[in-house]
Amino acid sequence: MPVLNRWSDAAAAGAVAAYGAQGVPEALALRTYSARLLGADPGLVLHGGGNTSVKTTVTGLLGETIPVLCVKGSGWDLATIEPPGHPAVRLEPLQALRALESLSDEAMVAAQRQNLIDPAAPNPSVEALLHAFLPHTYVDHTHSIALLALADQPDAEAICRQVYGDRVAVVPYVMPGFDLALAAAAAYEQAAARAAALGIELEGMVLLKHGLFSFGATAKQSYERMVALVRQAEQRIELAQGAQAPSQPAPGPAPSSAAAAVLPVLRGALARAAGAQGAPLRWLLDLRATPLALELVNDPRLAEWAGRGVATPDHVIRTKASPLVVPAEPTAAQIEQALAAYIATYQAYFQRQNARAGGIKTPLDPLPRLVAIPGLGLVGIGKSAADASVAADLGLAWARTLLAAEAVGRFEPVGEADTFAMEYWSLEQAKLGKGSEKPLARQVVLVTGAGGGIGAATARAFAAQGAELALLDRDGDSAALTAKACGRQALALACDLTDPAALREAMDQVVARFGGLDLVVSNAGAAWSGAMANLADADLRASFELNLFAHQAVAQAAMAVFRAQDSGDASQAASRPVLGGQLLFNVSKQALNPGPNFGAYGIAKAALLALMRQYALEGGAEGIRSNAINADRIRSGLLDDAMIRTRSAARGLSETDYMAGNLLSREVRASDVADAFVSLALLERSTGVVLTVDGGNVAAMVR
Ligand code: ZN
Repeated sequence: MPVLNRWSDAAAAGAVAAYGAQGVPEALALRTYSARLLGADPGLVLHGGGNTSVKTTVTGLLGETIPVLCVKGSGWDLATIEPPGHPAVRLEPLQALRALESLSDEAMVAAQRQNLIDPAAPNPSVEALLHAFLPHTYVDHTHSIALLALADQPDAEAICRQVYGDRVAVVPYVMPGFDLALAAAAAYEQAAARAAALGIELEGMVLLKHGLFSFGATAKQSYERMVALVRQAEQRIELAQGAQAPSQPAPGPAPSSAAAAVLPVLRGALARAAGAQGAPLRWLLDLRATPLALELVNDPRLAEWAGRGVATPDHVIRTKASPLVVPAEPTAAQIEQALAAYIATYQAYFQRQNARAGGIKTPLDPLPRLVAIPGLGLVGIGKSAADASVAADLGLAWARTLLAAEAVGRFEPVGEADTFAMEYWSLEQAKLGKGSEKPLARQVVLVTGAGGGIGAATARAFAAQGAELALLDRDGDSAALTAKACGRQALALACDLTDPAALREAMDQVVARFGGLDLVVSNAGAAWSGAMANLADADLRASFELNLFAHQAVAQAAMAVFRAQDSGDASQAASRPVLGGQLLFNVSKQALNPGPNFGAYGIAKAALLALMRQYALEGGAEGIRSNAINADRIRSGLLDDAMIRTRSAARGLSETDYMAGNLLSREVRASDVADAFVSLALLERSTGVVLTVDGGNVAAMVR
């Protein structure tokens, strides 16, 4: 899809008016507007890549006018940037740094911070000096995919000259920082002089194997130059691709059952390898089976391409320099072999390059962040679903760049030494998430009955502990509502758990979405009432279908995923289970302390309690824990306001007294049940446990 010129004079004026009402000056309002236009185009900017600036003035405390560079601050994403995302830095002290011969990254960052107008503002971009050394009011920088397809070529400079003539400066690859700012300023001045002699204007600057700059007197001019330069690169690629023999029609994506068969095995292999390396065990996977991803992974040149390197050095932080390639329809043994070879190659790369760097670097974990699986697609790997999604997005950008570059000539990005310098750059390392993870981070949690009161509260409680959520409910809309409350990456699916085919399809989708499963909250249930002597046989059977057999079906499906993750290479006679798994059941007070007319429900729940114990017994050796909650009198679909009214009236109690009819005299809420599920999830040495959440009820105490 081509890059679009999204500029609108009306929208720009609207931004000036809207930001102006908040006291933002026009120059910064327009800077914000066009930065967001760049960020809106994945062909230009992805996940925090790219940066933008405007040179303007601010008024000091004494009324003096201070020239400043408002430049993108770290931590902001162009797609969503706001005016504070371009903090103002005193321009003259930055420009004065050009007199230096060298400047360390740390000293450069310190100098930029010292000159911030607002000392609480984020760190200015590490490319801020490059912006400061250029004379133009507006400067835009992207890692455009089309441009990179031309700039990642052995003869990139010649190709850029063919496409752009003398309208751009060309800068050889230099790592971002002070040295790049100097090299770019020198290349700019030379090219500007040449352009002036030819009577043309310089519109931009190609940074070989890195990206593209454009600049102008106005936000619109700089933005439109960026789009036009990228369009020209796209046209050059279209020309090359048009000349190619038409490729085979791509096969469609494999069904989710194919992904569900492979991904848990991959996730388990990653866990065992991570354990051996002292890295966190659990990883989230994000499979992309787009036509582009399939074109890449199904190409016979895949293995050779995998070793070429990243499209732009920035990406190495998220994707590592190369993806792991496994065979089509891989067995566990093939995955483990490929992974072991990948790790050995990565460690050799680290040792080789660290020796060159003086042996001062600390190795990162050697695990891949991208996996290419023929027939299936490209898989992003991350410590969260969001992180895996970023890796997958950058993997697709790599695929697009590579395929376009190969059509034009040969994809030859930045080499190993420069990649290492970026991957182990202290400033880049600082961008990676620091601090401790939440207790249930990296865990995939499936909640059934997630649209109901207890299910929704439970989903939210697990999300608050960092878990990734898959939410099932017979009513898909209510599951979607819960997903919304849990966060962007939660998966909501409509599923009737008593329908085996529907359950299988839903489980496949969950596993295909996250790569595996760690914990199930088997919560869905419904009550059938009536005295046993008069109960319709169909009611008893219906209750057992939902309150026992559906739990068994969910548990069985979960066990299959847990076992696939921990199966490993059978020839290696797998040692201890690494990931294990957890089953949590919502058992009712009825199972322990039956009430009249609730036999259909209570007997099925009593069987469910026995089911929980059976799984504890049979799953223990595989590290699979099974526990239950015994909750009572929770406001929910099973005990709605009308029922509370009738029941409290029948007992001659107020509704409040009825709901608080327990030893603590306090109503028990759905969130209390949710917290109890989370507690069980965290009790690593407990299995076969029934945890009571009812405010205290002697008759329902576990004996
Ligand atoms: Zn850049």
